[in-house]
Amino acid sequence: MLPEAGSLWLLKLLRDIQLAQFYWPILEELNVTRPEHFDFVKPEDLDGIGMGRPAQRRLSEALKRLRSGPKSKNWVYKILGGFAPEHKEPTLPSDSPRHLPEPEGGLKCLIPEGAVCRGELLGSGCFGVVHRGLWTLPSGKSVPVAVKSLRVGPEGPMGTELGDFLREVSVMMNLEHPHVLRLHGLVLGQPLQMVMELAPLGSLHARLTAPAPTPPLLVALLCLFLRQLAGAMAYLGARGLVHRDLATRNLLLASPRTIKVADFGLVRPLGGARGRYVMGGPRPIPYAWCAPESLRHGAFSSASDVWMFGVTLWEMFSGGEEPWAGVPPYLILQRLEDRARLPRPPLCSRALYSLALRCWAPHPADRPSFSHLEGLLQEAGPSEACCVRDVTEPGALRMETGDPITVIEGSPDSTIWKGQNGRTFKVGSFPASAVTLADAGGLPATRPVHRGTPARGDQHPGSIDGDRKKANLWDAPPARGQRRNMPLERMKGISRSLESVLSLGPRPTGGGSSPPEIRQARAVPQGPPGLPPRPPLSSSSPQPSQPSRERLPWPKRKPPHNHPMGMPGARKAAALSGGLLSDPELQRKIMEVELSVHGVTHQECQTALGATGGDVVSAIRNLKVDQLFHLSSRSRADCWRILEHYQWDLSAASRYVLARP
Ligand code: ATP
Repeated sequence: MLPEAGSLWLLKLLRDIQLAQFYWPILEELNVTRPEHFDFVKPEDLDGIGMGRPAQRRLSEALKRLRSGPKSKNWVYKILGGFAPEHKEPTLPSDSPRHLPEPEGGLKCLIPEGAVCRGELLGSGCFGVVHRGLWTLPSGKSVPVAVKSLRVGPEGPMGTELGDFLREVSVMMNLEHPHVLRLHGLVLGQPLQMVMELAPLGSLHARLTAPAPTPPLLVALLCLFLRQLAGAMAYLGARGLVHRDLATRNLLLASPRTIKVADFGLVRPLGGARGRYVMGGPRPIPYAWCAPESLRHGAFSSASDVWMFGVTLWEMFSGGEEPWAGVPPYLILQRLEDRARLPRPPLCSRALYSLALRCWAPHPADRPSFSHLEGLLQEAGPSEACCVRDVTEPGALRMETGDPITVIEGSPDSTIWKGQNGRTFKVGSFPASAVTLADAGGLPATRPVHRGTPARGDQHPGSIDGDRKKANLWDAPPARGQRRNMPLERMKGISRSLESVLSLGPRPTGGGSSPPEIRQARAVPQGPPGLPPRPPLSSSSPQPSQPSRERLPWPKRKPPHNHPMGMPGARKAAALSGGLLSDPELQRKIMEVELSVHGVTHQECQTALGATGGDVVSAIRNLKVDQLFHLSSRSRADCWRILEHYQWDLSAASRYVLARP
């Protein structure tokens, strides 16, 4: 066979160094047709075609000589060779391109086109389709892989799609972490293909929303995933990268107990002394997962990834619910700036929710780093226990001797704990004496199992703790039926990249897109007979202000591209929506009440003010009476008297009632 005209340079180069016998293997197996392609060839690739190390050194020298002439980097190298953020912070000299990370070394492997055969379609994203595939190594061994092919239109790939695709390659090729999806290599064919590690169990989001009979994921497993995720994110942060699209849809299950961070299409290098990346134009971003500074200024940093980690945690414990569902994207920023936060999902312990709240600190500097989070997660994680006697009491979590129990809530001075039975997957409350903690050497469960930092409102352990104790005492198992009925079409929308947040215009009504707190309220079961029903004003958890329960109207809007994120257009639309926020005096009063009573929500303050005709002092007192009422077994009148006695100091009154149950 004659050498191809376009690759005569290769034959000449190899002849010059007496390696002409490698011409065809290099051309066909490694798919090298231009000098620049050698940038992506690793020694292992050359080993694979039988080239010894001394010969590799000769080749390397010859390539250097070839390149010492005028450089002619091809388009692949140009894009892979460096990141090109849309906008760099102008005042920071270190943002100049030479400071941007360049890929070190070559691709993990440049894979010949014929070595990969594609099978079943796994899904499709913004700029590519993903197939299951089989990669045949030079040794003949076959490896199951996932193959992402660049979507090519009739006129070839679009510029931004190609750029994003190659940027994803350039990021992934330098990553090596047990919880980061591995890139095996690139096929420089038509279309371009990324050959990645296969995650046979699909996305975590799909798993979380899988209908019965698939059992829900155990709380202990979710906590393990969180630790894996924090580790992977700490790794990315240490490499100066910001992911920008952290969500359960982008976590893949490599095995039942292993997640991998995937989808690096939005990853960017952190530039400058301030360690952040600022978007330069209106590019799609996942609104509901984003930190306020990302929505307002397009600023991304490790701290904004930490915010997204908090939202991902929320998704995991909400069975894959969509955060801020039903809230139009342009109102999300406003809600966040009003200190509204996603509510605590029933399966999430207070300690973990407290961590999520720290991730959602308004100021990025106040959020924990990922490496700090790794330790915090360890502390806030649930304790494992073993059932030592059958529990059959009505209303209690049923368990049999020997059942593995994950303790979600428990304290040494409480006789009733909340946990999950690892055998039945059910969640509920049970007598603490029915279990022994796994790490207590078989001793009865008497040590504290809350090791996390208290949530906002927990600074007065008596006051809020008891309230929540009552609220959580007889929580029923998670409503699987509800998860099953979740509109999968809508979820499909999420997993298909960022579409769910791209539509700034009205969404189709129906399909269960009510705000999370409404769905939450529906999911929380009523207590059994015997416990007083919770009046609407009481706080079930130490949650910060939550979004308003009213569905705000959808103002007519222009198509999304006319309103890039965080831009004045969005503010204007928010103002047009009118309603609660149009009354600054009411806002001020709500704030005053909220600051005076730990753990109450924005909505509860608003309702309390409504009930007292706007009288702030009475609203505060009513809310405090409510809190004490739920903490103790006393009547409201008693609670009023006790609070009066303690001059409306709720924590002092709480200590009093707790000491005299
Ligand atoms: P986008 O890339 O546009 O942000 P995306 O994450 O949905 O969106 P892809 O990364 O292209 O898109 O993935 C498309 C689908 O293929 C996803 O649903 C994902 O679950 C699946 N998928 C991607 N990579 C793998 C893999 N390595 N193993 C198994 N499934 C995968």
